[in-house]
Amino acid sequence: MKRNSYEYLIVGAGSYGAIFAYEAAKRGKRSLLIEKREHIGGNMYTHTEHGITVHDFGDHIFHTDNKEIWDYIRKFAEFNGYQNQVVANYKGELYNLPFNMNTFYEMWGTKTPAEAKAKIEEQKKAALGNLNGRGPKNLEEQAISLIGTDIYEKLIKGYTEKQWGRKATELPAFIIKRLPVRFIFDNNYFNHRYQGIPVGGYTQIFDKLLDSPLIDVKTGEDFFAHKDEYLAKFPKVIYTGMIDQFFDYKYGELEYRSLRFETKKVDEENVQGNAVINYTDAETPFTRQMEWKHFDGLSDDGVSVITREYPQQWDRNKEAYYPVNDEKNTEIYRKYAREAHAAYPNVVFGGRLGQYRYYDMDQVMIAALNLVRREFDISKDFNFAHDEEH
Ligand code: UDP
Repeated sequence: MKRNSYEYLIVGAGSYGAIFAYEAAKRGKRSLLIEKREHIGGNMYTHTEHGITVHDFGDHIFHTDNKEIWDYIRKFAEFNGYQNQVVANYKGELYNLPFNMNTFYEMWGTKTPAEAKAKIEEQKKAALGNLNGRGPKNLEEQAISLIGTDIYEKLIKGYTEKQWGRKATELPAFIIKRLPVRFIFDNNYFNHRYQGIPVGGYTQIFDKLLDSPLIDVKTGEDFFAHKDEYLAKFPKVIYTGMIDQFFDYKYGELEYRSLRFETKKVDEENVQGNAVINYTDAETPFTRQMEWKHFDGLSDDGVSVITREYPQQWDRNKEAYYPVNDEKNTEIYRKYAREAHAAYPNVVFGGRLGQYRYYDMDQVMIAALNLVRREFDISKDFNFAHDEEH
């Protein structure tokens, strides 16, 4: 087969692929970017209706401690000062998240950090003893160790088990460590210094990243329809799809968790008074409800758009949202990663699905810029955010 004039084939138009294409184009390299879906932006894709920006694949709040990536992404959009402050609804009782002095007061009436810590310690001891000197070995033990049994029962167990479709005792402890535990009165959902949402949504960022004569974008194009041809034709491939699918599941399927969204317009000014309400009991089938106008406060004309997020079992016909990074899957992933390394030196596996990692947006972007550093032999210290030549 004839070779072509592209240096890169990029599979997937999420942030990993789009940032790579943009940086490659800056260096005069041509890419063909193919995307299975009909739109760019991956799960960061947003659209606007009734003057309200809706995140099609669940709320995406950008948060990071990395100044370089914060400055970098703001070259492509103006960010507002949104700070995520989630409220939990447990059978009609409301609690502030993440777990902080407000939550402890609402749960127990404790008023000082010492009182709250004493309560947590007492519940932890009663439930787990001293764990025979070992660390927490699953999400349940980790959660109880951090915030005691009352909060675990009301705000974590039901939510977690419906979110992941398995028992909290069968989930890795690290998942719950994503949420801060604070002994101050502070409802900020994230610990990171920089936080916000692009005014007008995320899609504009991808439009700008991919707007180059050196980047051709084909949406609605499934890599697997022509995998062998693509691999033969392109000197280098940046693949951001599922790594197990790339290998035709030869070492077994990796597990993912999927989501389903129900979005509707309502003729009401203000439905829930907050951007995100988590429904933390086991019976409510959705995990959270977003009211989009509260993410940017831009629309107040008597309508609102809300979305309910339902977790669902993943299968090959559904979108994979979350990798399930337990031991069994990690072991399978390692086999694929080893083979990728040994047999496909010209294919880079990147992003949440290519690396089977529960990455946040900023982590994916940092990984993409690190790939750019390696690929173009750029010094480790090079700061893309301050690279003004373009
Ligand atoms: N979680 C919980 N209760 C909540 C919110 C989160 O138990 O009200 C747990 C749950 O196990 C979830 C994890 O914390 O999977 C991480 O939550 P995060 O909001 O970071 O998840 P994401 O936004 O990535 O879905």
